[in-house]
Amino acid sequence: MNSRPHRTCIACRRKESPQHLFRLVGNEGRVWVDIKGNCPGRGAWVCARSSCILKIQRRPAVLARALRAPIRLDDLMEKAREANNRAFVDALTLAARSGSLVGGTEKLKRVLVKERHLGLLVSSDASARTVALLLAIAGNMPVFRVHLSRAELGRLVGKGPRTALAVRPSRTGQALVTMLRRMLALG
Ligand SMILES: [Zn+2]
Repeated sequence: MNSRPHRTCIACRRKESPQHLFRLVGNEGRVWVDIKGNCPGRGAWVCARSSCILKIQRRPAVLARALRAPIRLDDLMEKAREANNRAFVDALTLAARSGSLVGGTEKLKRVLVKERHLGLLVSSDASARTVALLLAIAGNMPVFRVHLSRAELGRLVGKGPRTALAVRPSRTGQALVTMLRRMLALG
């Protein structure tokens, strides 16, 4: 993804790598988020940041001009969040399947102190005590509190309930951390 050429955000005109942007496409007057960035047809790019998405929401003419088509704009922020969530779940299951996730509080306590990891995902219903403990071991590793419960997190990675998951340095692990950062940027 990093090797792809930079694109210009239609809201702020900054040039960014596609991994920090959403591609928007129009189809019969509706606007869709093309999360993989490879749908055919004319597309427009916008930063995966709430400020840029809200700017387009307020000024849909900017998007219509970029797409060269009349559009009816629904809640773009909602669509962007949904697209991010779907891509996050895909990245999470891929990382799990390729063995890039380490789970189980006891196992985490052991591996986090001796191996470098890209980040730590923490479930939405992890207890304050567990979170404090994991934060202490995680050191300066990025910690991402996700919207998934322990049960949901475990189900998505094909295991029992998971309080937290550490992300190993690998291609699928890196893709997952990139997705987590995108979700943070959207708020
Ligand atoms: Zn922008």
